[in-house]
Amino acid sequence: MHKADVIIIGSEGAGARAALEVKRLGLEPMIVTKGMLGRCGATVTAGADINVDSKSIKDVLGLNGDVRDSKEKFFEDTVIGGRYLSNQKIVEEHVERIPQIVKEMVEWGLVVDTEPTQVAGHSYPRGVMTNGIKIMRVLANQIKKANIPVYEHFMAIDLVKKDGKVIGVVGLDLSTGEFIKIGAKAVILATGGGMQLYSYSTAPDELTGDGHAMAFRAGAEFVDAEMIQFMGGTFLSPPAWAGHSFPYCFGPDAGGLDVRMFDKFGHRFMEKVDPVNKEHVTRDVLARGIMNEVFEGNGSPAGGVYYSIKHLPDNLVDNWPAAKGHMVSEDFTFMGFSFKELVDKMKKGLAIEIAVASHFFCGGIRVNEKCVTCVPGLFAAGEVTGGTNGGNRLSGNALTQIFVQGDIAGESAAAYAKKSAFEDFPNEEIEQFRNRVMAPLEHDGVNAFEVRKELQKVAWDDICVIRSEDSLTSALAKIND
Ligand SMILES: Cc1cc2nc3c(=O)[nH]c(=O)nc-3n(C[C@H](O)[C@H](O)[C@H](O)COP(=O)(O)OP(=O)(O)OC[C@H]3O[C@@H](n4cnc5c(N)ncnc54)[C@H](O)[C@@H]3O)c2cc1C
Repeated sequence: MHKADVIIIGSEGAGARAALEVKRLGLEPMIVTKGMLGRCGATVTAGADINVDSKSIKDVLGLNGDVRDSKEKFFEDTVIGGRYLSNQKIVEEHVERIPQIVKEMVEWGLVVDTEPTQVAGHSYPRGVMTNGIKIMRVLANQIKKANIPVYEHFMAIDLVKKDGKVIGVVGLDLSTGEFIKIGAKAVILATGGGMQLYSYSTAPDELTGDGHAMAFRAGAEFVDAEMIQFMGGTFLSPPAWAGHSFPYCFGPDAGGLDVRMFDKFGHRFMEKVDPVNKEHVTRDVLARGIMNEVFEGNGSPAGGVYYSIKHLPDNLVDNWPAAKGHMVSEDFTFMGFSFKELVDKMKKGLAIEIAVASHFFCGGIRVNEKCVTCVPGLFAAGEVTGGTNGGNRLSGNALTQIFVQGDIAGESAAAYAKKSAFEDFPNEEIEQFRNRVMAPLEHDGVNAFEVRKELQKVAWDDICVIRSEDSLTSALAKIND
């Protein structure tokens, strides 16, 4: 059986920082991941803005921050943006620790822009710009330097408990099909969100909420689990583009152009949602604005709304400011897709059809400000947790959250592991785990892929942005079927 002082499930932003912290504190961590280090999860896909209060951007990072900002103001904007549902002790750690973390990552070689960005919900420019590939390259280098073992293509399926404490993990080696047991003194969940619950998502395929499910079965509590962030401004079709966020990134929240959105009658519906800011609003307001129109029957034929840049001069579009950053090239290539032809058609007057896609889990496993769950031996960090963002996340706060919580979870798990010993796995339960892990590979009943598709459709139809008692009851009935 494999063993490590602390097992970290998830290798990306939160998991990598947690592992480095455990190692720094003198213990032996092991990372397990469904994908490959630096090539899976959401972190590597990020745009990416990392929020730091603007004063620290200037004073600590030496970039062009605005000294009128403060950690207190950043705290206040995060709590207001989260609709007052955030755990404020967690937000205190969030604003306090991030400047030194970004400073350290820059010292490790992370390249960032000198000009921070300011988007909806932030009183000052706080987005330190880089991209997810650069972030993960730097973190993966540190993991390699620290000689931290990374078990890739390992799908954790369940947490093993003894006398109420988590004592390890079981799962499947995806490259050999073997059932694997790993003993640990403490376990950190850093498995990201579960956005693949929905038919349309901006997030990678592997983000299926496995950590949430494992924690739930182990007895963890949840907070704000219904608060799912949808990004307003994503493609519905063609299939290869579905859920892709290029239109969003082209628009105002990402520091882009003054785009306009219309219902099927040509009404600029965001004017009635927010007469002052119109399309320049936080993600929760934009997503509700779009999906209300669809829900009311005012949407476009594909089930979205119209999105247009016809009112803008061609050369203004060509000089789109965001193209100079880390996200998109000057010829409108974004995440490996070229949108030049599409943008040319839009300049001539084509309104494209866009909708929303699941983007981020604001809620999740309940942790305190030390990333401790209610299950002894179990810690959690990053998007799998709830508490930082309450009812809505401001752009740039996810990366801040995952780095800060990665460090904190590493500290807490290391302190716990130092006082704990390895335990033998209970043989009978392990047999049950083995049966559960291997079941999808060994039986011929329902097709798991079909079930997944059906679940995604139920979620999209009934528990998406606009929900009602009827839609929730209908979803429950369909799931129980
Ligand atoms: C397209 C996109 C752009 C974004 N841009 C930004 C941005 O610019 N700024 C910002 O602040 N936020 C952004 N976000 C959000 C942010 O990227 C994520 O919230 C954050 O990266 C999550 O980090 P994490 O470490 O918690 O999880 P992830 O990076 O998602 O990593 C999850 C890890 O868990 C592993 N895993 C999952 N299940 C299992 C299992 N059963 N067994 C083993 N391993 C498992 C995965 O393989 C992966 O290694 C963006 C998100 C998306 C989708």
